[in-house]
Amino acid sequence: MNLEEYKGVFIYAQQVDNELSGISFELLGKAKDLAADLNTNVTAVLIGSDVKNLCDALAEYGADRVIVVDDPELKVYRTEPYTHALASVINEFKPEIMLVGATAIGRDLGPRVSARVATGLTADCTKLEIGDFPLNPGPNQKHNQLLMTRPAFGGNTIATIACPDNRPQMATVRPGVMQRITPVKGAKAEIVEFNPGFTPNKNYVEILDVVKSVTDTVDIMDAKILVSGGRGVGSPENFKILEDLAKAIGGEVSCSRAVVDNGWMPKDLQVGQTGKTVRPQIYFAIGISGAIQHVAGMEESDVIIAINKDETAPIFEVADYGLVGDLNKIVPKLTEAIKEYKA
Ligand code: FAD
Repeated sequence: MNLEEYKGVFIYAQQVDNELSGISFELLGKAKDLAADLNTNVTAVLIGSDVKNLCDALAEYGADRVIVVDDPELKVYRTEPYTHALASVINEFKPEIMLVGATAIGRDLGPRVSARVATGLTADCTKLEIGDFPLNPGPNQKHNQLLMTRPAFGGNTIATIACPDNRPQMATVRPGVMQRITPVKGAKAEIVEFNPGFTPNKNYVEILDVVKSVTDTVDIMDAKILVSGGRGVGSPENFKILEDLAKAIGGEVSCSRAVVDNGWMPKDLQVGQTGKTVRPQIYFAIGISGAIQHVAGMEESDVIIAINKDETAPIFEVADYGLVGDLNKIVPKLTEAIKEYKA
C-alpha cells in the first residue's frame, strides 16, 4: 500500500429518509479542523436514492467536495449495498482519513467497510487530532497521524490509537461530541457523481416494511436545559421534584445509569459513556456522584450545577456551581424561587 496516494479527510454523510442526520454536520466540523492541520480539504460521501438536494447543506457546513452515490438500491439503509458504495468510493478516491458517525447505522457500516478495504477502525471515538505516533521521538516515529482517542476498559482509562501503516485511517465518532460550524449560507461544494453499479445478490436483505418507534419523550441530546437525577433521588416517585424543576425552568429530565439500572427511568434518558453525550446550556446534576463514566457524557455542558449532600463527591470537580445539602430540601425551594422570579 502506497500511503502517499491517500489524500483528504472524508466523512460519511449519513441521511435517513432524505434528511441529513446531525452527526453528519458534527463530523464536518471536526473534519475541517483535521484538514486544516493537514493542509488538505474535506469531502462528504453522500449515499442514498434521490439525495442530491442535500449537497448544499453539506457545503454550508464545511464540505469542499461531495461525492454522491445515488441509486434506487440505496433507498433504505441496508448493510450490503451501502458497504459496497462506501468501500468503492474509498478504493476509487483514496482518502487519508474516513470518519463515520457511531450511530446505529455507522456502527454497522464502519467495521464492514474497514474490513473490505483492509484497514483498521477505532470505534466510538471521543477525540481526534493530528499528531506524531508513537508519542516519543525515535526512528519509527511518524508525523501527521490521526490520533484517535476513546474510553477503554469500561471507561477506566483513555486509549489513544493510531493506524500508521494502513490507509484510510478510519474512526467512528460518538454523536454529540464534535462541534458543527456555523453554516456559511450559500457556500457551494464541488459535486462528483459516482456509481460503482449494484448487482443484488444473496447478501441483499429485502426490506418488507419499516415500522418507526413512536416516542413522546424529547431527545435529551437536543435539550438546552437538563435536570439530571441520580441514585440520590431515592425513588422513581421522587423524580417528581426534578420534573417540577424542569417544568419551571423549561428543561427536560435525564438521569444517571444507576437510575436506569434500578428501573426508575428509561434508558433513553441516560447520560454517560453507555448512554448519551449531552451538551446543554445548563446541566443540573442532582444526587449524582460524578463517576467518570457519567462525567464523560456531560462535561462539555456550558454550565454545570451540582446538588449533593456529600461535599467530597467528584461531581463538584466538574461543576461550575455546587450546592451541598439534601436535594429534597434544595430542589423544591429552587423550583419555587424560579417560579416567583418568572411571575
Ligand atoms: P451514586 O454513585 O450512588 O451516587 C449517588 C449520589 O447521591 C451520592 O454522591 C450521594 O452523596 C448523593 N445523595 C444521596 N442522597 C442525597 C440527598 N438526599 N441529597 C443530595 N445528594 C444525595 N453511569 C452513568 O451515569 N452513565 C453511563 O453511561 C455509565 N456507563 C458505565 C459504563 C461502564 C462500563 C461502567 C463500569 C459503569 C458505567 N456507569 C455509568 C456507572 C457509573 O460508574 C456509576 O456507578 C453511576 O454513574 C453512579 O450513578 P449515581 O451517581 O446516580 O449513583
